[in-house]
Amino acid sequence: MSAITMRELTKVYPGGVRALDALDLEIADGEFFALLGPSGCGKTTLLRTIAGLEVASGGSVRIGERDVTNLPPGKRDVAMVFQDYALFPHMTVRDNIAYPLRIKKVDRRSRGSKAADTADELGLSGLLERRPGQLSGGQQQRVALARAMACHPQVFLLDEPLSNLDARLRLEARTFLKRLQRELGVTTVFVTHDQAEALALADRIAVMEGGRIRQVGTPTEVFRRPANTFVAGFIGSTPMNLIDARVRGDELAVARARLPLPDDARDRVADGERLVYGIRPEYLDYSPTAVPGALTGEVVVVENLGSVSLVSLDVPTDDAEAGDAAGDPGRTSVQVVVPEGGEPEPGDTGWA
Ligand code: ADP
Ligand code: MG
Repeated sequence: MSAITMRELTKVYPGGVRALDALDLEIADGEFFALLGPSGCGKTTLLRTIAGLEVASGGSVRIGERDVTNLPPGKRDVAMVFQDYALFPHMTVRDNIAYPLRIKKVDRRSRGSKAADTADELGLSGLLERRPGQLSGGQQQRVALARAMACHPQVFLLDEPLSNLDARLRLEARTFLKRLQRELGVTTVFVTHDQAEALALADRIAVMEGGRIRQVGTPTEVFRRPANTFVAGFIGSTPMNLIDARVRGDELAVARARLPLPDDARDRVADGERLVYGIRPEYLDYSPTAVPGALTGEVVVVENLGSVSLVSLDVPTDDAEAGDAAGDPGRTSVQVVVPEGGEPEPGDTGWA
């Protein structure tokens, strides 16, 4: 059993930064769990507190049946991969990978062969006799991964382990990590600030902000049903459009557009109520000709994203409905994903 349970976990650093704020979280046994959030939201602190490298200021951490809140790191049976690798510079790759096995008193021969097997799986076979200083950043990161994997811990803690790999290796390492985690069934907590990585890899995701969890769910849940505008704005390859709106009978007034209220929203809102309407840029269709009831405005920016373009429309709103959730009343910016070949020019009028 290696579920991880955190109860009212709090970390206040000397100087008063509250990096974890009475955080409650349960990670299931064998789960591949992503901690996602912007820089400074407390992801590394949470991982280090689970590992025992930081002492909690309050609350508790359990791993399986054990309360590990006051145990030293060596007694927790977790392995952590650090964002800055933390390899031993004077040891070879082989000895770095084998190090935790040595601590566990595995005999020299099986240490060597286990290290070689793990190195092989991560594409490091040719580098076993090198020292970290003779490796690229990406190779060092893979040695750090291999070192954590070699000792088969109950819990695997990864702090942005792919962030220093180039795009192609990163995809490969991602697939490899996912497959390995499935095979080993080890509870894995994976920190990233990259929402695409979290969506692609995780069984479940916790979205963090300011030392708290804003939502926990499967990738589909946090993508399809974000619990708040913070999560809505953070998840997705382009930020979700968040537009002030007002309920008008059976319709929703969004800027000057009128949309039918979804069935599941009808019971939850009152006539005249103000709310924020969220729609992803990829779910809007762009039209260069008038569409009745659609959002309309002037094209201000066209960004080429490769196979699609991201078009920004400057959309006037009736004063009564007042603008952008975050910005100017009276105007709102609406992003639309437009397929290749259909891009407008700045200055055009468009409908979405
Ligand atoms: P993340 O990994 O999400 O970027 P961190 O856990 O590193 O966030 O940091 C969370 C907050 O705690 C930040 O405000 C950061 O500046 C602060 N912090 C992190 N480590 C320390 C430390 N050793 N001493 C004081 N403040 C720290
Ligand atoms: Mg960090």
